[in-house]
Amino acid sequence: MFGKSVNEVRTELGRRLAKEQPADADVVVPVPDSGVCAATGYADAAGLPLQMGLIRNHYVGRTFIEPHQSIRHFGVRVKLNPVKSILQGRRVVLVDDSIVRGTTSRKIVKMMRNAGASEVHMRISCPPTISPCFYGVDTPKRSELIAATQTLEEIRRFIGADSLGYLSLDGLLGSVGEARPSYCTSCSTGDYPVPFPENEAAYLQLALKLNE
Ligand code: SF4
Repeated sequence: MFGKSVNEVRTELGRRLAKEQPADADVVVPVPDSGVCAATGYADAAGLPLQMGLIRNHYVGRTFIEPHQSIRHFGVRVKLNPVKSILQGRRVVLVDDSIVRGTTSRKIVKMMRNAGASEVHMRISCPPTISPCFYGVDTPKRSELIAATQTLEEIRRFIGADSLGYLSLDGLLGSVGEARPSYCTSCSTGDYPVPFPENEAAYLQLALKLNE
């Protein structure tokens, strides 16, 4: 995309994340499939082994777009399975590409502890998601984005991790290279560079997302 390898950029996000947000740990585990590339880069830069301590059930769809909390929770429970032989007694760096509501991360951290992980250090390969997308990505409205209203420490406590670290905005933009001023960063900054589409449905969506 734009002359860059998406895989390489995602891996670079993980390398930079390891430098910005190191963790004293034994193993790097990705949240599949969203965290796999970044976890590869993290493990590479940190000199830690990468292991698939969570296995995804490919027959269940994405969870964050499900409308009801109960359905989302059920989705997380059946979608990922922890691998005890990898997690037991280990200090784990858990890598994902974002935290949206926080409910999915919370379930995954708990699942890893139940499988025997001694520590879980959550690392996210982008800055906190503080603002909704109006350009086509189906993120929830602002009031449902945990980073829009909670501090880093509050988010860490909510998801139950021993530590939590995000990649900086500079780290994110530095990973995509020379075209950096032209990229949208609205979900990390709340600064929308392109006017919203001028049709009623889009405005309604905007109003619903911002005011509730
Ligand atoms: S960066 Fe911009 S286009 Fe991409 S999801 Fe965020 S708000 Fe939407």
